[in-house]
Amino acid sequence: MKLRDSQKADLVTAAKRYATKYENSPAHAYMAHRGLGSVPRLRLGYVSEPVVGHEPHRGRLAIPYWRPAGGIHAVATIRFRCIADACVRAPDGSYLPPHREKHEGHGKYMGLPGHPPRLFNTNALLTSRPYIALNEGELDSVAVESADVPAIGAPGVSSWRDHFDPPLAGFEVVFVLGDGDEAGRRFATKVCERLPNAKSVDLGDGYDANRFIHEFGPARFRERLGL
Ligand SMILES: [Zn+2]
Repeated sequence: MKLRDSQKADLVTAAKRYATKYENSPAHAYMAHRGLGSVPRLRLGYVSEPVVGHEPHRGRLAIPYWRPAGGIHAVATIRFRCIADACVRAPDGSYLPPHREKHEGHGKYMGLPGHPPRLFNTNALLTSRPYIALNEGELDSVAVESADVPAIGAPGVSSWRDHFDPPLAGFEVVFVLGDGDEAGRRFATKVCERLPNAKSVDLGDGYDANRFIHEFGPARFRERLGL
């Protein structure tokens, strides 16, 4: 589905509005609770006052897909993450209660209707370094970026698109950071089949990039990549 120009502009307006509400928001507290460092350039957001059409996402973390283009093309899409799956301390010191049931009636992550799968954080492709990390999902990319490694987030392997390959082809190495479980290893295998410069980095059973960096720190993580 082609987005009309007015819809593109709405996405930029929305992403900017959500970004201004992020600091000290429940979404910010949620990220801190997960040990996810602050990466201002990713301009994450909090949906306190949704724009028209985003009402179901009130109270969620907004994950804008910022891209190098400016103007009405600055935001490719926005995804939303429910932050009610953990008990987090709100900025005012109170605890926000989690769901009783896990994400009943909605996904953990939600996209906008008609938006195709995309790569998250395409700004990372502009790095002058010869390497880039590829994660499954956005929040692991946030963790890797916080460890000062340029990181792209891919949707699951079933949502991979042929046009994701060429922008990754120019790197000396693409570190593929699948989760330390069966699905994550399948993701890594599939990506390595597609990209001749891909190198799978196994972070260990039960570890994803977020958990690894939270537990062992960015230096150990970079060491794991051989950097
Ligand atoms: Zn939920």
